[in-house]
Amino acid sequence: MLVGLFFIFGLMSSVLTIPPPDGVPPRIHPTFTAETSSRAINPLTNHGGPVMAAPAIYIIWYGTWTTSAKSIIQNFVTNLGATPFWAINKAYGVGAITFKKGIDDAAYSQGKNLTNPWTVVQNALNKALLPKDTNGIYLVLSSSDVAQPGFCTEFCGWHTYSGSYKYSWVGIPASGCNCFAQYTSPNGNSAVDAAVSVIAHELMETATDPLINAWYNSDGDENGDACAWNFVNSIYSSGYYYNLVVNGMKYYVQANYNLGSQTCTMS
Ligand SMILES: [Zn+2]
Repeated sequence: MLVGLFFIFGLMSSVLTIPPPDGVPPRIHPTFTAETSSRAINPLTNHGGPVMAAPAIYIIWYGTWTTSAKSIIQNFVTNLGATPFWAINKAYGVGAITFKKGIDDAAYSQGKNLTNPWTVVQNALNKALLPKDTNGIYLVLSSSDVAQPGFCTEFCGWHTYSGSYKYSWVGIPASGCNCFAQYTSPNGNSAVDAAVSVIAHELMETATDPLINAWYNSDGDENGDACAWNFVNSIYSSGYYYNLVVNGMKYYVQANYNLGSQTCTMS
């Protein structure tokens, strides 16, 4: 009995202390200049795991969100599937991505130090606030007053899975966090605009490597990692950079790894 309990405890603690398998590293010293795609990238190959043919996005708005902050992200995820940018993932076997549903966790159900976002997803599934969808990507987005060990210093977001459910966490950076792309941004909210690029990174990685056993390269880099902070095709206008227009709204989004050209591209 004691051994059994000890085993369960040991298992639980090892599960909880495993770092997220894949995260967007923070940009430690942002220069706010357009980067090029010149960095050599080892080619990505499929290691045999499944990809997501028709991923569906579910958002949990964790913490305090304004309608305008939500709308920047909502427009992006709603129309992302129709963009040439998302179509880069076709070569990986991934089809259009759709946005299905968003729910609020305005009460900070797991506190303001969000150590285990899976609990947030799990509660939403158990309470049937969101459907149990094995084609789903459950995206927990926490407002800038929510911390997480490693956020801003080790990562800006990450994706992983639990059983057959895929989920991702992305934090909205607060002042001083190393996850900003620029301080003046297309939609007048540099924190949320920065998070959109991280969301794009995590979505394309989750779709092409949902169980961390499909598409990555010899460095362990997934498509998003290969192009992290690489803002290809940047245009400077009105004090900010942008490189992608989605349903009429401008965004500054890191590129994706193009299997055909073996470089980071936006289409
Ligand atoms: Zn990544």
